[in-house]
Amino acid sequence: MRLILMGPPGAGKGTQAKYVAEHFGVPAISTGDIFRANVSQGTPLGVEAKRYMDAGQYVPDEVTNNMVRSRLAESDAEPGFLLDGYPRTVAQVHELDAMLVDSGSALDAVVVLTVDQDELVQRLLARAQVEGRADDTEEVIRTRQQVYAEETAPLIDVYRERGLLVEVDGMGEVAEVTERVFKALSAAAS
Ligand code: AMP
Repeated sequence: MRLILMGPPGAGKGTQAKYVAEHFGVPAISTGDIFRANVSQGTPLGVEAKRYMDAGQYVPDEVTNNMVRSRLAESDAEPGFLLDGYPRTVAQVHELDAMLVDSGSALDAVVVLTVDQDELVQRLLARAQVEGRADDTEEVIRTRQQVYAEETAPLIDVYRERGLLVEVDGMGEVAEVTERVFKALSAAAS
């Protein structure tokens, strides 16, 4: 199973990614998590990424693409994967297409979680208190939402046109949303 999980900041991608990936027995690959791990280890990649992350901006495509290419080349991702937070720009879509062509594989579905805008800000502010993420301040949240609308929302149409899009209501309890994702994926597969 090769999946992408998309949705605006705060839609619950990270939480759902873990459950969905576990269900299909594939690794959940979160570019945000990989960047954060690099930041906390103080690697050169982390130092570069941090500037953008703290401001709520995207890390440049070239840096992100190289990182994903090497992660997808690891053996655990060979049978499948769930990408959480990648691709996020049209250029990343094209790069992922090229990676899949190189490995002779293809995407099965792109799941997009839809969540009400006001609920999103509340969730992100709540997460800021629990996790203490530097990019969960109100100002940075606003920037991240704007960047998502401009750079990432257009990808929904790209994947819809390819017949890969599976839209799932992301409102409600975590377990309810997970159940909706499974139902929507099996409906899409049949
Ligand atoms: P996330 O945990 O997915 O919200 O990602 C946190 C931050 O990491 C984002 O706000 C970006 O600065 C950076 N990031 C994660 N994934 C990408 C990506 N695909 N392209 C560019 N920047 C990314």
